[in-house]
Amino acid sequence: MNKKTAQLSSRMDLLKQAEKELTQAATPQPRAEAEFLLAAALGLTRTRMLAFGSDMVGAEEQARFWSFIEQKKQGRPVAYITGETDFCGLTLHCDERALTPRPETEELVQSASRLFERGANPDILDLCTGTGCIALALAARFPCGKVTAVDISAQALALAAENARLTKLQERVQFLQSDLFENVQGTFDLIISNPPYIPTGQLSALAPEVQREPCLALDGGDDGLSLIRRIVSLAPDYLNPRGTLAMEIGAEEASAVCALFDSARWEGGVKKDFSGIDRFVFARLK
Ligand code: GLN
Repeated sequence: MNKKTAQLSSRMDLLKQAEKELTQAATPQPRAEAEFLLAAALGLTRTRMLAFGSDMVGAEEQARFWSFIEQKKQGRPVAYITGETDFCGLTLHCDERALTPRPETEELVQSASRLFERGANPDILDLCTGTGCIALALAARFPCGKVTAVDISAQALALAAENARLTKLQERVQFLQSDLFENVQGTFDLIISNPPYIPTGQLSALAPEVQREPCLALDGGDDGLSLIRRIVSLAPDYLNPRGTLAMEIGAEEASAVCALFDSARWEGGVKKDFSGIDRFVFARLK
């Protein structure tokens, strides 16, 4: 480490060297990770950092950068290292207390937002809120709406509450510790969730980055559907007439998930994510 920080280097030199090290460590996206981490070490956006690539980097910032790279080599997700991530235009705190928000989940929020007109005042319930990303993005989108967000994990809820303050949405989202619907009261126009959906047997095969995330947020039981099954069976008691249940599901789970819905009661379908994977289920009570 000292050897690296002894000499003055430009941003581009540091990126080149870090990319090489991350490639050797077989991280998922060496160049992009190096860029995000250098930008964070400098306190700049990635674009601004790249725009002045020949600028020299001071010793303190270099030391911070190499400590970030070291953590990345150990498989820590970038968002945990920098402590934040962007989600639907909000900057959220991120750490080991909850799953890192994924781009797919932004798509879930965007599709769910289209269910209501701008200026609508939907009652929304977000199950397994984690960082609070879905609940907060919907609260930002529907200033007249009412959002309740639950999680079984007190640690995740503490992070979600931090994020509510950070985004100044704390008056608009009510957080509740609950095992799915257990402590939930009332009925909702939208129940939305990115529940844990990875089959237990597949957890150990996940990328090292994902294995750094809370098992509670990933483990969907034997077939991956244990929480989804409970949500589908209880949701009718918590939905308003014509209310919608919107969930993110695992790759290859779509047909098993659809089979959980009684077609006499529900209508709806599956939506693909940007990579063409059947990733979301939207269902409405008839
Ligand atoms: N999409 C996450 C992954 O790729 C899993 C999230 C979840 O279980 N809800 O690992």
